[in-house]
Amino acid sequence: MSSNIDYSKPTARDEPLIEGNRIGGRSTPGSGGVEVLDPSNGLVLAVVPRSGTSEVDAAVEAASAASSGWAAAAPQERTAILARWSELIVAHREELAATATAEMGKLLRESRGEVDRAVAEINFMAGESLRTNGETFPSATPGMLVYSTRVPVGTVAAITPWNFPIVAPVRKIAPALATGNTVVLKPAAEAPLSSLALVDLLREAGLPDGVVNVVCGSGTEAGAALIEHPGIHAITFTGSTAVGRNIAESAGRRLIPVQLELGGKNAIYVDETADLDRAVPDIVAASVQASGQRCTAISRVLVHSAVADALVERLASAYDSLAVGAGTDPSSDVGPLISDRQKQTVHRYLQTSVDEGAVVVTRRRDVPDGNYAPPLVLDRVTPSMTVAREEVFGPVLSVIRVTGHQEAIEVANTSEYGLAAAVFSTDIGVAMRFAHEARAGMIHINHGTASQPHVPFGGVGSSGMGPYSIGHTSQEFFTKMKVVYLQG
Ligand code: NAD
Repeated sequence: MSSNIDYSKPTARDEPLIEGNRIGGRSTPGSGGVEVLDPSNGLVLAVVPRSGTSEVDAAVEAASAASSGWAAAAPQERTAILARWSELIVAHREELAATATAEMGKLLRESRGEVDRAVAEINFMAGESLRTNGETFPSATPGMLVYSTRVPVGTVAAITPWNFPIVAPVRKIAPALATGNTVVLKPAAEAPLSSLALVDLLREAGLPDGVVNVVCGSGTEAGAALIEHPGIHAITFTGSTAVGRNIAESAGRRLIPVQLELGGKNAIYVDETADLDRAVPDIVAASVQASGQRCTAISRVLVHSAVADALVERLASAYDSLAVGAGTDPSSDVGPLISDRQKQTVHRYLQTSVDEGAVVVTRRRDVPDGNYAPPLVLDRVTPSMTVAREEVFGPVLSVIRVTGHQEAIEVANTSEYGLAAAVFSTDIGVAMRFAHEARAGMIHINHGTASQPHVPFGGVGSSGMGPYSIGHTSQEFFTKMKVVYLQG
């Protein structure tokens, strides 16, 4: 199978590219097709299979067949394959970044950053193969050795969203492989091409056939068939809270583990001592990257009333200067939204927030035709407004004015979500209290919500369930403990 790493140039082809699933090391056609569109211009980049039960059966069968061989592979072999994968990704950085931008719309510089981040996460996980340690325990019986080992869970279903087409699959495949599991990946229907390219590179890196398989298609067909499949031993899912709940219910019935990375409604508190020169660029970046379509995007700014006017003025001016355009245009600051449907959703949130009393403080402006939305700052938002409670997934920032840190913490914690939260303050007491009391999986003090590639990542409440991903905690999900009592 030849690797097609760059899917970003549909105009260079007469016909749309027809892509297959990746099952047992082969590119296999499926029945029906799903068009993958470039959100910046609506062009068809490729047509991928609309997989259903039979494709999922074949993929799980291939993964099951490869399972015992891969589980028995020496950790050094797993490390070496992950290291080669990382090198190949580095070598194909530009093509992968171009593919991610073509199918998802984010700025090319953000896609390059996403590739670099994926490489860093793989490099950590390559070493993790050699750190999958057990423990020994003191024995109640003289001469008996009591110890535990970590064993692979088996065949893992990995289901990913469209907003991080490179990092999301890597964050599941790399730890699964490091710990000896096989994988069936179902990428988002909107952005599956990066996953196909990544898995082709994995094969080139020497991964045995069948260890990682990809089934393309919709959530309600391919995704639903995958999570219900009896050959699946664990499900790692990143996506919306509503779908995550369904998956948890299904997995709960079969008592298989789940790792859920879900939505967010992330708040930042800016107190009266904050350095606004530092806070403003970080808030803007954390709210508009990927056009606000990030689970860790800042979407609520809780600001002390003493500095509220100054902060709102600066945020509005920074937002007004953002250039909206295609991700491939180096002068763009904000790219398109993933789809026309997402654009309509963002527009509805804007309408509702104005109806409920919020005030738009950014200028009226034209944006290019297509899936583009103007970046907006809303002032005078209250905690009960729809826009303050629900995940918008667009370049929309809500400002909620508060009278002090007690109220800030109360408002931050009104959300059902609990992914990331941030505080800007030069008062260490305020910052530490916020870190202690804000209900979120990750707290950031005096910077935006950027996480690091070796540190556990996850959320509480409606933002997630199961062991955190990325760092050493991945082992908790991708392995099971086995305890051995050895009497010599
Ligand atoms: P989504 O839930 O609509 O889809 C995610 C994946 O699930 C896709 O592959 C989809 O096809 C599949 N799916 C949908 N219905 C399914 C079903 N019934 N059974 C099985 N699979 C199904 O989410 P999305 O719109 O692709 O992504 C955006 C969401 O993802 C946002 O809520 C965002 O916050 C969240 N997200 C969370 C994190 C995190 O780490 N916490 C990271 C990125 C995105």
